[in-house]
Order: sequence, then C-alpha cells, then structure tokens
Amino acid sequence: MADADRRISDDGLPSHPGGSDSADHRLSTMFEIASILATEHDLDAMVSKLLVSLVETLETAEAGILLLYDPAEGCLKPKAAQGYDLGILRKLRIAPNESRTGKAFSTGKTELYPTPEITAAAMSTLTPANRAILTAAAVRKTMPQSSVCIPLINSQVKIGVLLLESFRQSGSFTSGDLAFLEPIADLLALSIENTRLRQELDAIRSLSEANRLKAEVISTLAHEMRTPLTSIKGYSTALLMDDASFSVETQREFLQIIDEECDVLQDLVHDLLESSIIDAGFLKLEVQPVQASRLAREVLEEIAHLSRKHRYLVDIAPQFPVLDADPRRIRQVLRNLLDNAVKYSPNGGLVVVRGEVLPDEVVISVADQGEGIAPEHLNRLFEKFFRIRSGLGRHVVGTGLGLPIARTIVEAHGGRIWAESVVGQGTTFYFTLPRSGSNDAAEDGSTGGQHE
Ligand code: ADP
Repeated sequence: MADADRRISDDGLPSHPGGSDSADHRLSTMFEIASILATEHDLDAMVSKLLVSLVETLETAEAGILLLYDPAEGCLKPKAAQGYDLGILRKLRIAPNESRTGKAFSTGKTELYPTPEITAAAMSTLTPANRAILTAAAVRKTMPQSSVCIPLINSQVKIGVLLLESFRQSGSFTSGDLAFLEPIADLLALSIENTRLRQELDAIRSLSEANRLKAEVISTLAHEMRTPLTSIKGYSTALLMDDASFSVETQREFLQIIDEECDVLQDLVHDLLESSIIDAGFLKLEVQPVQASRLAREVLEEIAHLSRKHRYLVDIAPQFPVLDADPRRIRQVLRNLLDNAVKYSPNGGLVVVRGEVLPDEVVISVADQGEGIAPEHLNRLFEKFFRIRSGLGRHVVGTGLGLPIARTIVEAHGGRIWAESVVGQGTTFYFTLPRSGSNDAAEDGSTGGQHE
C-alpha cells in the first residue's frame, strides 16, 4: 500500500519528526526486522519475533498485539503479543469496527489514540467478553497513555492490524514514528501473505507426497496380499477335493500354512484399519494403572513365540512405577516396535526392551542388532506409509503404518517417540510416558531379568 493511501484519520498528531527513538535504534530495528522476515518461514514464529523486536527496540512502545483477520470467522484474532499473556489473549475475537483494532481494520487507515481518555472512548465499543479477556491478559493493568493501530494491507486486501501501546506519556507516537512504522507494516503484510502462501504450498506438496506414498502402498499391498491369498486358496481347494486323499500329517501341514498366511493377511488389514480409525479421530484411551514390566514381558513372549531366531531380554528397572495408561494401546506400541525389531534384523541377534525411570517420565526402549537405519531416513520413519526401499527390509511385508500408529498412541498419552540407529549395528526406538503423581507405587516387585 502506498504511504499516501494510508493517511492517518486523526488530526491531532504531534508532528515533531523522529519521535523519541534515536535514528540508530530505528536502523537496528529495521535490520533486525529485515533479517526476521528473510529467515523465519514459520508464520507464528515470524510475527512473534517481529513484535518482540519492534517493542523492545522502539522506545515509544511498551506493549503490542498483532491480530490477523480470519475470513471464516469474520473477526480479528491475536497472533502475537508483547506485554500481554498470549495464552489468555488468544480467546479474543474482535469484529470489524469494534474498538481500536476493529476500527483500523475497517477504515484501512492508521488510527492514533494520543490520550488515555481517547483510548478509553474508542475501547467503549468492546464487547464485555473481549474486555474481560483483554483485562485478564494485560501485564499492565492501567489504560495506555497513547496507542496506535496500523492496518496490515497487502495488494488492497486487509489482512490484520498491528497495535502498539505506550504507558509512559500521552502523545508518544509522532508523525516520525508513523513514517517509520507504516512501511514496516506494509513489509510485514507482504511477508505474512508470502509465508501463508508458502505454508499452503508445503501442505499441498506433503499431501501429494502422502498420496503418492499411499498409491505406492496400495499397489504393494495388493501384491503382498495376493501371495498369501494364492496359498490359502490353493491349499484349501486341495483339501476340499473329493478325489484326493491326504494323510493326516499332510492335511495338518496344509492347515498350518493356511493359518500362517491368514495371520499375515490379518496383520496387514489390522494396520490399515487401525490407521483409518486413528485418522478419523477415534483414538480413545482407556486409562488405568499399568504395570509396564509385566506388560513388556507378555508382549515379548508373544513375539518370541513367532521368531525363535532372536534372543530376547527385558531389562526394566526394579521399582518401575505403575503408569496411568491404556494397556491395550501401550501393548500395541510395544508390539509394533518389537515386531519391527524382529522383522528388520533378519539374521537374528539380541532384542532388548529396557525401562528407565526419570523424575517426570519413564523411557521405554526397544533395541535390535539389525542392519540399522541411515540418518536421512530417521526423521521420516513416523510419516504415514514411509518405508525404506533399500537393504534387506525391502523384502519384508509391511504397510509403513506401524510407527505412525505408535506415535499417535504415545503422543495421545503425552509422551514422545524417536529412533536412534547406527547403520550395521542396530536400531533403538525410545518412547516416553509421563509419570503420574498418584500411581507412583512400585510395581509388583519383579525386577529386570532375562527372557529367552
Ligand atoms: P512397516 O514395518 O509395516 O513397513 P513401520 O511404520 O512399522 O511399517 O516402519 C516403517 C519403516 O521403518 C519400515 O518399513 C522399515 O523400513 C523401517 N524400520 C522400522 N523399524 C526398523 C528397525 N527396527 N530397523 C530397521 N528399519 C526399521
């Protein structure tokens, strides 16, 4: 927006140029703002750094709020704040024309409030709910001595408002200040729009990447499903043939193969179903006291039953606290991690489940001696449908859903999950669960021990 278009709508503007800020201050603010706009690509981080920089470097202002217009809700919402508690302030919903910021947004002009009385008069249009929020969020509980609202306009589209407040003296914002602030507001509006567009583009890109991975997985799954289905069909048809007579051992062998192939199919279908349930937001935790070491031993027994090539060890510290968690879901996380440890260390080796107790949380880990994961793949492991296509793992049947499912469950419990790996030596997956104060009694007295 050209400077001339944003004539101030208040005639009582002090005209001494430069204001109270030194030229040095302004120059350094300008540099800082330019560097934030050039380097910060996250919208929330960009606007909050920018506001901090403006308020801290400008001697005129001690507090400020940056509000962006939400077209869906038809109101201005705070995005960043200085001198206010943003957590409380986020509930603010300012309608166009309401109070100082709403007016600047509606008129598209810089609005100046040079005295506490003029400020109070402008704020008289605040809804009671917004007034209560503003009062609760304000660090200073007095009326500002002067304030200024600058609309953020990009290519004639109003996108928000920058409010700056001074608590020191009336008339603190001068024409010199505005000559400095308005170009910054224009730059800010442009950068906000660019950042929004970049974020939309990234979202579209990652959506199409997810779609590509999904299509790839569906084609792999169709292929993977055909193999067990062919076996099941072949052996069951053979068993049903009227003119064939098989010995009891042969019949048993056929049934055994059918049973195993059904398990493979069941796992694939289970992962797909679980993932779609979680996507639909149906993950509901049924939290109860959980004895983690007992649970880990039980899951390990199930897995050990399936793969006898590996050795297994549970090393969970004595006095491991009882956790507040959903046992079915934590079992699922452990099963996914242990299943992977076995699947992706095809030559056998030691699989260790370890439990560590920290002051606020417990850390449970599953370590294997498989071929490991290259660093460039480590941070993509928890993306849906991501599978490593190289190495021995490419022959393993899977969906790329086990780890994202595990992450959703762990995060729903308030924990974190990550992996560390050394290629050629093995991988360790870690997840944390918060310790609850109430259920911190020690476990059943069982201590760490070997399970083979
Ligand atoms: P799936 O095993 O069904 O492919 P996951 O989400 O459980 O899906 O795992 C995603 C990918 O992460 C796997 O395809 C594999 O490439 C890699 N991965 C997971 N666990 C391990 C492990 N313990 N060692 C090496 N690679 C692993």
